[in-house]
Amino acid sequence: QDFRETLEITPLSSTDLLEPHRICVCVRKRPLNKQELMKKEIDVVSVPGNGTLLVHEPKQKVDLTKYLDNQVFHFDYSFDDGATNELVYKFTAKPLVQSIFEGGMATCFAYGQTGSGKTHTMGGDFTGKQQNASKGIYALAAQDVFTYLNHRKFAHLDLSVYVSFFEIYNGKVYDLLNKKTKLRVLEDERQQVQVVGLEEVYVSATEDVIKILQTGSACRTSGQTSANANSSRSHAVLQIVLRRNDRATTLHGKFSLVDLAGNERGTDVNSYDRSTLVETAEINRSLLALKECIRSLGMNSDHIPFRMSTLTKVLRDSFIGEKSRTCMIAMVSPGMASCDYTMNTLRYADRVKELKGNSKSNDAPKTRESLSSSSEEELPLDTNMYD
Ligand code: ADP
Ligand code: MG
Repeated sequence: QDFRETLEITPLSSTDLLEPHRICVCVRKRPLNKQELMKKEIDVVSVPGNGTLLVHEPKQKVDLTKYLDNQVFHFDYSFDDGATNELVYKFTAKPLVQSIFEGGMATCFAYGQTGSGKTHTMGGDFTGKQQNASKGIYALAAQDVFTYLNHRKFAHLDLSVYVSFFEIYNGKVYDLLNKKTKLRVLEDERQQVQVVGLEEVYVSATEDVIKILQTGSACRTSGQTSANANSSRSHAVLQIVLRRNDRATTLHGKFSLVDLAGNERGTDVNSYDRSTLVETAEINRSLLALKECIRSLGMNSDHIPFRMSTLTKVLRDSFIGEKSRTCMIAMVSPGMASCDYTMNTLRYADRVKELKGNSKSNDAPKTRESLSSSSEEELPLDTNMYD
C-alpha cells in the first residue's frame, strides 16, 4: 500500500464548489469496516481529491503487491473515507434544495452495491437511539428546507412543506407512511404520472421529518424474513414537496431523495430461484432506465424513456423541464473483495456523467477510452426475460 503515501490529499473547501449544473455525479468511499480489517483486507481505492478516484485493481490475484493496476476516474467531486455526511451533503444535495425553492424539481440518488454506504449517507442514523446521531442527507436537506422557507428571499412565496416516503419493490410502489399499502401508478393522457393515494404529510419542522423517517424505516424493514436483504432489494424514495398556500395547494417544487437498491450482479445471488431472478432483473431494468433518463435530461432530449421502469415513471417530473436538477452519489466499498462491484459502480456513474454540458466530461480521455471499450451495459440478465 505504499502507493498511497505518495498521493497528496486535498480536502474539499467551500471554494471548490462548482458552478451548479443540471447533473452532478460524485463518488464516496466508505472506510474499511471491522470485518474487513479483521480479514486484513487490502484497501484498493484511493481518493487524491479534485474529483479523482483511483482503483488499484489487482491484475492477477497471485501476488497482489506486484500486480496493481491503477484505474483512474474523474467525477464532479470525490469523497474520501474521512468525509462526513455534512461534507457530502454540502457539495451534493444542498445546492438542490435551493433549486426547489426556485420552482425546480430535484433528485438525489445514492447508488452502489449493498453495504457500500447508501443508507448511511441518505438516512444517517435517525433511529434516535444515539444522542449524537449523525444526520444523513434526508435530515440535512429537511433542515435547510425549513431555513429557506423562512428566508426573506423565499418567504413571500407563502409555501408549505409536505413529505412522502415510499418504497419500490419488484416494480410495485408501497407507501411507507401508510402501513406499506400497495399503490397504483397511473399515467394520464398528458403523460402526467400519479401515485394514487400516496400519503403526503404536512410538516413544519425538521423533527417532524425525522419522526416520519423513523416510522417509514421501521415499516420498511418489518415483517420480512431478512430485513437487511430485503431493504437492499428495493428503492426507497423520500419526497420533500413544496406547495403554495393557495386553494389548490399548487405544486411549487419537489425534491426526491432516493436510496437505490443494491446494484450487485445477478450472478452474486446465492439463490437461483425464479423470484430472485425476477427481482434482480427488475432492479437491473430500473437502474438501466434511470441512467438513460438522466442522460436524456443532460442532453436536453425530448424523448425521456421514463416508461422503462416504475422508478423512472414515478420520478418522471424530475427528468423534464428547464429547472430539473439531478445529483448521483456513487458509493464504493474500499476492500479488494469488492473490487469488481466497485468497478461496476464506477463505470455506471461514469456513463451517467458522460454528457454534453458537463464541464468535466472531457477531463480524462484515457479513462474514457478504456471504459468505452468495455461492455456497454453490464447487465447480468436479459431484463426482458420475464416480460
Ligand atoms: P447500503 O445501504 O449501501 O447497503 P449501509 O449504508 O447500510 O450500506 O452501510 C453498511 C455499513 O457500513 C453500515 O454499518 C454503515 O454504518 C457503515 N458505513 C457506511 N458508510 C460509512 C461511512 N462513510 N463511515 C462510516 N461507516 C459507514
Ligand atoms: Mg441500505
